[in-house]
Amino acid sequence: MSEILTKEKVGKSRSLKFKEIEDPNIIAELQNDYQTKTILVTDKCPACGNVVSDKITECPNCGLNLVA
Ligand SMILES: [Zn+2]
Repeated sequence: MSEILTKEKVGKSRSLKFKEIEDPNIIAELQNDYQTKTILVTDKCPACGNVVSDKITECPNCGLNLVA
């Protein structure tokens, strides 16, 4: 998977899905899903899984740009 997950992208796709889905249970599941993804993006490089600080702009392991 080459797509870089960023908070910005996750936020955009969440907004789109929330417009289409009205079932509150599904929305709650999506929120959990996206919260987990958001944490992963800030804690770990989405490409290589290397643990990174949310203050750095580039993964020190694979060089992935981590800024949205
Ligand atoms: Zn990396």
